Amino acid sequence: MQKLKAKIRDIPDFPSPGIVFKDITPLVQDPLLLKECIEELIRPFKQESITAVAGMEARGFIFGSLAAWELGVGFIPLRKPGKLPYDVQRIDYALEYGTASLEAHIDAISAGDRILVIDDVLATGGTARASCELIEHLGGEVVACAFVMELGFLQGRNNLTSYPIHTLISY
Ligand code: 5GP
Repeated sequence: MQKLKAKIRDIPDFPSPGIVFKDITPLVQDPLLLKECIEELIRPFKQESITAVAGMEARGFIFGSLAAWELGVGFIPLRKPGKLPYDVQRIDYALEYGTASLEAHIDAISAGDRILVIDDVLATGGTARASCELIEHLGGEVVACAFVMELGFLQGRNNLTSYPIHTLISY
């Protein structure tokens, strides 16, 4: 999957000075590579009786929806506060500076559901961990978390020790 790296570009000082942002838009504009990427994301989970894929706003929606389609299951959007129209379960979590929140519809997940969590980037792991806890609050089981890329130097895996982690490339 090293060819994925050729389609992920570094944007210095985005969204703030000192941060080098990994931009996945060249990857999602390449139809063959995008298809290969989705196939590799779901490969370990085809026999895991996944009942739904959950993806985090916003780039998790792209990869998560396609993965759900490929697995033949539904997609659950985990959204920033105030975006979902029906009753929600919310989780607040700490960022390096400040806090963030995610919400899911209370009827999006039922007891016994086997959920695959998908996002583009595993950085510190805070977003993914909060997502897993939100799913568990609603009665779902997190089968695994899958990411296109992992920023290994941030050691996000240490935040997700309770869950299997699958990543395609690492920096
Ligand atoms: P974490 O909570 O693991 O620190 O951050 C992961 C979340 O932030 C993911 O939802 C991901 O989309 C976003 N994110 C953090 N850094 C980057 C980056 O360099 N590139 C992209 N595309 N997303 C990032």
